[in-house]
Amino acid sequence: MVGCGPAGAELARLLAQAGLAVWLVDQLADLSQAAFSSAALPLAALERFSLPASLVASRWQGWQLLGPGEAVRRWQGDQTLGVVLDFGALRQWLAGEAQAWGARLELGCRALEQRQVPDRISTLLRWRDGQQRWIKSRWVVDATGQARSLLGEPPATAGPLVTGLGVEWLVAVSADQEQRWRGQLSFLLGTDWLPQGYGWVFPMQSGQLKVGVCRLQDPKRPQPPLGPLLQSILGRCGLAGAQVLDRHGGLIRSTIARQEPHRRGRLIGLGDAVSTANLLGGEGIRHALLSARVLAPQLLAALAPGTQDRAAAQGLDAYPGQLRRALGWRWGLSGRLARRTWLGLNSPAADRRLERLLAGLEQHKQAEDLSALLFDYRFERYGFRALPYLLGLR
Ligand SMILES: Cc1cc2nc3c(=O)[nH]c(=O)nc-3n(C[C@H](O)[C@H](O)[C@H](O)COP(=O)(O)OP(=O)(O)OC[C@H]3O[C@@H](n4cnc5c(N)ncnc54)[C@H](O)[C@@H]3O)c2cc1C
Repeated sequence: MVGCGPAGAELARLLAQAGLAVWLVDQLADLSQAAFSSAALPLAALERFSLPASLVASRWQGWQLLGPGEAVRRWQGDQTLGVVLDFGALRQWLAGEAQAWGARLELGCRALEQRQVPDRISTLLRWRDGQQRWIKSRWVVDATGQARSLLGEPPATAGPLVTGLGVEWLVAVSADQEQRWRGQLSFLLGTDWLPQGYGWVFPMQSGQLKVGVCRLQDPKRPQPPLGPLLQSILGRCGLAGAQVLDRHGGLIRSTIARQEPHRRGRLIGLGDAVSTANLLGGEGIRHALLSARVLAPQLLAALAPGTQDRAAAQGLDAYPGQLRRALGWRWGLSGRLARRTWLGLNSPAADRRLERLLAGLEQHKQAEDLSALLFDYRFERYGFRALPYLLGLR
């Protein structure tokens, strides 16, 4: 298993638990470092994947949407709707679970290339001290996230790869500064906050917030650096002078149609490496975990004693379709909505269009309704009038 993110670590755990010999490698020397993800999740995901309370940095009961312009819209629920996880702690916990079931964890170890050899696949690994070794195994899973280190870029026939660049700072704030952001997920919307994207302020442990921006990349337009923009957002959010504890970020990349090959011989893709991240809310942890749950039974069947290669390949050929069905048809629609909403957000007309969409959302007073839209992609709740917008006709 190459990559110890949510996808790779979860699959390693499932396979090791079933008694298989699993190697889990990651180029990071310490999984608590480079915790690039904001890690906001709906409560249902915490329950579905049995994630313990110790990973939860904060809980949220509502939503706050700031912008376009000075508009502020709030939806408050009575109960916890979701959590913000400590992403580094999540990776460490998942890896620990896999190890506890017998998986071997190699950190500071980078996969450089792979070769298909008769009855096996061979992977070149390089450790931090420069040591290199070819390792033979029956299967290799590319769970290297958006980097797709072994599978490589999707072919042009898979449709365009939509890319968001995210930068996030973990900041220490005073109790007064924190007040406005606690208990809710806040998004900053509109071109005066950020063209072609959105910003956010998420609560973390007491006295800490995550403030970030994500911009969908458009090579036809200037893409100024996001750091200075984030600095000015801090000021606008009343957080100027907050101590920056950590700076991180990364790319989030998915094809909208998800038609890319999920396997090349004995190399199989998982999680973000096969476009499970959703660009609407820049969200992919639960989809990565889900991809592991979908692939595990197929890999177990392929590795069962006596399974012929041809039968194993047939079972694994069913995996892309199973994953597509597990993600659901709404996943694809939300991807289109993301591309249209964020990439097209670069003019006063686009701000007005967003304004109309948000005014439509305001008709629904419950915070749960907004969660149903942003996490369950239940667009039909907003009526058929929203459909032309979703399909790009309006
Ligand atoms: C700024 C930002 C904010 C986000 N916020 C959220 C959010 O709020 N909620 C949410 O659900 N999702 C969020 N996401 C998306 C989410 O983090 C990803 O979808 C999720 O982490 C994907 O999991 P994964 O296991 O597929 O890949 P990753 O988590 O990317 O894991 C891949 C692992 O592979 C390792 N690796 C890469 N190449 C190699 C190699 N050659 N050899 C060895 N190891 C390698 C990497 O070090 C990494 O640990 C965010 C993403 C970004 C960039």
